[in-house]
Amino acid sequence: MGFFSKIASGLKKTRESIMGSVNSMLKAFTKIDEELFEELEEILIMGDVGATTSAHICEELRRRVKEEGVTDPEEVKRLLREITADMLRGGQELHMATKPSVILVIGVNGVGKTTTIGKMAARFIGEGKKVVLGAADTFRAAAIEQLDIWAKRAGADIVKHAQDADPAAVVFDAIAAAKARGADVVICDTAGRLHNKTNLMNELAKISRVIERELPDADREVLLVLDATTGQNAVNQAREFKNAAGITGIVLTKLDGTARGGVVLAIREDLQVPVKFIGVGEGVDDLQPFDPDEFTAGLFDE
Ligand code: GDP
Ligand code: MG
Repeated sequence: MGFFSKIASGLKKTRESIMGSVNSMLKAFTKIDEELFEELEEILIMGDVGATTSAHICEELRRRVKEEGVTDPEEVKRLLREITADMLRGGQELHMATKPSVILVIGVNGVGKTTTIGKMAARFIGEGKKVVLGAADTFRAAAIEQLDIWAKRAGADIVKHAQDADPAAVVFDAIAAAKARGADVVICDTAGRLHNKTNLMNELAKISRVIERELPDADREVLLVLDATTGQNAVNQAREFKNAAGITGIVLTKLDGTARGGVVLAIREDLQVPVKFIGVGEGVDDLQPFDPDEFTAGLFDE
């Protein structure tokens, strides 16, 4: 399956849900009036776009309708598509020009962190890069094994310690290995659940200090992984992590399994954090760099 069709099929449920509602709503209107904007806003909110973002989109739509003198309700779809593509544009490129660069992957349990790391590793190796993985989710032995399997599959090096080892020490060793072996990028897994949230945030802060100390001039990404199937809960998680961990980007996973892909818009607009990758399946190829135009096409094109 090609690049575009994979995103399109991954977004099928979201597209059918949002565009299905938009289409049947528009059919009931012969002209564009305030009631249309209100109904559209409601559809967007139901589609997990978020209240603030939905209001913002409709405000912009009112403005564009007036400015362009649009009268046909069908034209609303084109405007909606243009507005959302504009909203999503900017900031989605990864900063990984230094050798090595570091990607720290964080997020709650089960969102797809380890899987995303495996997919990213395979992608970077496919681009000719040398990749070292750091198994800094030491909370469960199974997490270390899972990353090990992905490392083998992708052809990446892995640095791992025993279960319950200090995650910051794993990151330290992974960085040392990357420097010694001339790796291009170190990708570190982290635990999504500890005994409590304060512990988790303290641990992430400690890991960040190690990276800062060992690689002060390196390009660094802190990618928060969010599960799109959780809708608004994903937005709430993003808020918490944004405050605590200085995230630079979002990876939104499981877009293939949900009608809640509208959450991309809420995250981008509400939190002002760019989405950098999307996950559209469990396979090694099912991670795509986020492309606003392709994404919007996947969301709106019937
Ligand atoms: P972690 O706890 O955050 O490390 O999450 P895992 O990487 O272990 O993933 C949890 C589950 O989500 C696994 O069964 C993955 O196969 C699945 N998963 C991860 N990303 C995606 C995705 O983009 N689409 C689908 N359908 N499943 C995914
Ligand atoms: Mg994991």
